[in-house]
Amino acid sequence: MRTIETLVIGGGIAGLSAAARIARHGETVVLERESAPGYHSSGRSATFCHFGIGDGLVHKLTAVSKAVFAAPAEDGFPPLARRMAALFIARAEESDQLDRLTATTLAHSPEAERIAGDALREIVPVLKTGADGFSAGLHDPDAYKLDSDAMLQANVRALRDAGGELVPDAPVEAIRRDGERWTVDTRGESYAAKRIVNAAGAWADKLAEMAGVKPLGLTPLKRTIIAFRPPEGVDVSGWPFTKTVGEGFYMLPEGSGRLLASPMDETASEPCDAQPDEETIALAAWNVEQATTMPIRRIEHKWSGLRTFAPDKSPVAGYAPDAPGFFWLAGQGGFGLQTSPGMAMAAEALLFGLDWPEALGEAGIDLGELSPKRPSL
Ligand SMILES: Cc1cc2nc3c(=O)[nH]c(=O)nc-3n(C[C@H](O)[C@H](O)[C@H](O)COP(=O)(O)OP(=O)(O)OC[C@H]3O[C@@H](n4cnc5c(N)ncnc54)[C@H](O)[C@@H]3O)c2cc1C
Repeated sequence: MRTIETLVIGGGIAGLSAAARIARHGETVVLERESAPGYHSSGRSATFCHFGIGDGLVHKLTAVSKAVFAAPAEDGFPPLARRMAALFIARAEESDQLDRLTATTLAHSPEAERIAGDALREIVPVLKTGADGFSAGLHDPDAYKLDSDAMLQANVRALRDAGGELVPDAPVEAIRRDGERWTVDTRGESYAAKRIVNAAGAWADKLAEMAGVKPLGLTPLKRTIIAFRPPEGVDVSGWPFTKTVGEGFYMLPEGSGRLLASPMDETASEPCDAQPDEETIALAAWNVEQATTMPIRRIEHKWSGLRTFAPDKSPVAGYAPDAPGFFWLAGQGGFGLQTSPGMAMAAEALLFGLDWPEALGEAGIDLGELSPKRPSL
């Protein structure tokens, strides 16, 4: 039995970004079931940071995190992100949605501007515009393409520098409360910890049940991405992340000259190693072909992952009301990478009762907003 201060369960972006900060306050271990960090959602994302997703809390956390992504890279290490524009596109009947998104985006990203009909094709030449296409858009040059691997590795380094440890191949199999501590059994080792942080992504409710703690009612939703080559001779490297404001798709260029696209599917799933299905792969290609003049000849790669939401769709960080020392860090939905720096700051402050970080206060994030005790949960 190993006795430590804080045990973090889950080696995705949520657990690792929080652990990198938690480790400054006492011995910290991160347990990850898989053999490498980021095997599940954190390694399967579209890795983009923008304001076209989530509620007000998500936007404020994104604004705090964007400052981190905009900062220069650590010496000798790859940058966590690079600036890449976002383009939101709307059909005539979706103008209200575009107006709302414009207001939200401008509140955080003042360089964003509205683009009219035909001008969309100057940015993404394959878009269909006019009567059976898109009639307007919103272009935000100050969005970011994230590098999930660089983000995970930077957090692992910070964790180790602070004396913490990431233990892979360590599935948590039992959790119980023994007096003042939590005892957690993995296949190889048992840990006694003053506090545990539940950052198990799609499995976070399962972990709570294992510990006898009331689940939050999390819903994992499957999302699928395809990768394909643009038509011969078309250079997509300068294209923005392009997303329909309503149903449809998003697409973005990848480093290798390919495009990634998702039909923005949201299929309820059990927590699992999510796999793409044929129907959704076909839908991804069809949605892109309907919205553009681009045929998709061959899908070179495809994958799926889970986006896990709390019942009110907002992320959760805070001690469980029914279990001392049991801290929730869950419900990162489709915005877990782009909010992770802000969420990690909040988690550290809430775990140790520190002063509320200035950056969070300035962004207008209230200490209670992330709480698992908030009325909407
Ligand atoms: C297709 C797709 C596109 C996305 N696009 C974006 C995007 O553009 N921008 C963005 O910000 N977000 C995006 N997301 C969302 C983002 O990926 C997630 O919000 C984020 O990765 C969640 O991180 P996490 O650490 O909570 O979960 P995970 O990365 O899933 O980590 C949880 C970890 O807990 C471990 N675990 C579970 N149970 C146990 C156990 N019993 N013992 C030990 N370990 C355990 C798991 O193995 C897993 O590694 C996307 C997600 C998907 C699927």
